[in-house]
Amino acid sequence: MPGYLDHAATTPLRPGAREAMEPWLGSRYGNPSGAHDAARHARRAIDDARDQVAEALGRASGEVVFTGGGTEADNLAVFGVHGVRGGTVVYGATEHAAVGAAAARVGGQTVPVGRDGQIDLDALADIVDEGTTLVSVMAANNETGIVTDLGPVIETVKAANPDALVHTDAVQAVCWTDVANHIAGADLVTISAHKFGGPQGVGVLIVPEDLTLAPLLVGGGQERDRRSGTHNVAGIVGAGEAIARTTADRDGELNRISELRDRLLDGLLASIPQAAETTPDRASVVAATAHLCLEGIESEALLFLLERGGIQASAASSCASGAQEPSHVLAAMGIDNEMAKGSLRLSLGWTSTDADVDLALDVIPGACERLALFA
Ligand code: PLP
Repeated sequence: MPGYLDHAATTPLRPGAREAMEPWLGSRYGNPSGAHDAARHARRAIDDARDQVAEALGRASGEVVFTGGGTEADNLAVFGVHGVRGGTVVYGATEHAAVGAAAARVGGQTVPVGRDGQIDLDALADIVDEGTTLVSVMAANNETGIVTDLGPVIETVKAANPDALVHTDAVQAVCWTDVANHIAGADLVTISAHKFGGPQGVGVLIVPEDLTLAPLLVGGGQERDRRSGTHNVAGIVGAGEAIARTTADRDGELNRISELRDRLLDGLLASIPQAAETTPDRASVVAATAHLCLEGIESEALLFLLERGGIQASAASSCASGAQEPSHVLAAMGIDNEMAKGSLRLSLGWTSTDADVDLALDVIPGACERLALFA
């Protein structure tokens, strides 16, 4: 059914991932920590998935730590490093709350971004000092889709303190950037399977093999003591298959999706007088995201009308309560609150087609016109 434009929140499971998972939801069931044949098979399935993830990210298999999702991987990066090294955790002002709230809990310090959503490198150079143990800067933003130029960020951090570790949350980058190159200089990297066609509840933290982390979960010592708990074998197998297929399809998908996104965005800008593109430099935004601010229109009312018209989208990132919180991302970029109140994120993904764009172009301008009448 057309109209799903919320792939940045979650994207449907890829059929190849589902097929790979199915045996592990039925006929195959060993606990990978065990010693018998069924256990060995499960362990091999996890190690194959580990290799698939490592290959897609250009890292060693021994660096892959499977977690229960992107939030857990982000938390493990922050608390895991801070728990061993103490010091100050520095993080970008537009980070996802999975990094921001964790870093804030250990007294972290934010780095401002410019109107373009990029880290202010001068401020970063001022903030990072010998007391900094971790700097966390996301690879692509979940609301605006802005891709961070990580090279200069990492150079700035290492110039100010060569011992500071760099973590990047690459959850929104896996489908839409040459991710292995993009994250190459980062020490720790987070990804989440449900953003690239794998199942929900499976994430990865890339951790250098010789780095000591304080684990969040202790117990059986799985994942070389970095993440205790019986593995979610089916989920991990699905994650491995999904990332392998995402990488294989990426070049073709980038062209196809950016054409759809551009037609959507250009069509909306031409037909909605209140609409402004949040990031005028489209080249710095992932191919799948169209982010608009609609002056004088309330996102919440708009999303209600859109859903009645068959369009599922979001404003700020989705949060557990479903309520629309003011966006800390747009505020950090210096976008005034009146504009931010009318934010709309339309995000495409592997199932998106022309039919989704046609429906959106049919429904969204009319909904904005109705709301403008009552503004
Ligand atoms: N980081 C970013 C940038 C995200 O977009 C998300 C999900 O919205 C997360 C972290 C959290 O990942 P998960 O939903 O797997 O916990």
